[in-house]
Amino acid sequence: VLLQPIAPGAAPSLDDEEAAAPRSLPPRKELRARTRELRGRMDELQRRLYAEGRQALLVVLQARDAGGKDGLIRRVFGGLNPQGCTVTSFGPPSARELRQDFLWRVHAAVPPVGTIGIFNRSHYEDVLVVRVRNLVPRESWSKRYEQIVSFERILHENRVTVLKFMLHVSRDEQARRLMRRLDDPRRNWKFDPGDIDDRARWDEYTEAYRDALARTSLADAPWFVIPADDKRVRDYLAAELVVEALERMSPEFPQANEENVRSYIDSLKAVDRGS
Ligand code: ATP
Repeated sequence: VLLQPIAPGAAPSLDDEEAAAPRSLPPRKELRARTRELRGRMDELQRRLYAEGRQALLVVLQARDAGGKDGLIRRVFGGLNPQGCTVTSFGPPSARELRQDFLWRVHAAVPPVGTIGIFNRSHYEDVLVVRVRNLVPRESWSKRYEQIVSFERILHENRVTVLKFMLHVSRDEQARRLMRRLDDPRRNWKFDPGDIDDRARWDEYTEAYRDALARTSLADAPWFVIPADDKRVRDYLAAELVVEALERMSPEFPQANEENVRSYIDSLKAVDRGS
């Protein structure tokens, strides 16, 4: 099925219909099994990536409140070896971080070669919430699109493959999820009154997202809008894109020198005989 990336310069509509499952998907009851298979494949590819130690994958997750970033991290990436994986959440910058350029804390969290990194929110907040809430003057945030493009080019040219997912939920689905969050004692700790203000600015966020995606979707660091009203669909589509990217990176186990291996076997045997 493989979702197509946003073409450079083209803004997605981000209307409510775009949050619904695409038509050409496998039957709904099969999706979980398919996602499980993809997770198995991801596990194998991660082993190779780690062993090879030459390239990294960065998956950037952005969404509105209750868009499903946490669920996706658990269900899609939950099978990875924690040793080769980092998840970094970006909240409001600290006083210290505000004294640096906006990419400073982000660059420090980029996954090292051999590993997979997941950004739960990212430098894109600096052209989303920052723009919508006027946290810095327009003349500052408006320059950031180009700065982000340059930054991601640096990553690409330094062996980091970048994938960017916007988990797109419709207005109704967000309302349902926020309500459920309040009703459920296992979830209501997540409720943040700020979510209500953000919901009130739905259209402004839509504009900010459309601009960000149109201006920063690059061949080497593409954006994908993942329809996220249905969680199974969301997980399946995301898993497919991650596996496809890892396959294209085609990490390989380093080749051991056969002669060395043979002589190590002999030495091991000799040591054991000696003891
Ligand atoms: P989430 O809402 O992602 O589940 P959370 O509720 O645990 O996360 P935090 O991770 O503490 O909250 O912070 C998320 C908040 O930080 C969001 O409201 C987001 O808009 C804000 N934020 C992130 N980056 C920035 C930034 N660069 N400038 C201002 N606010 C930011």
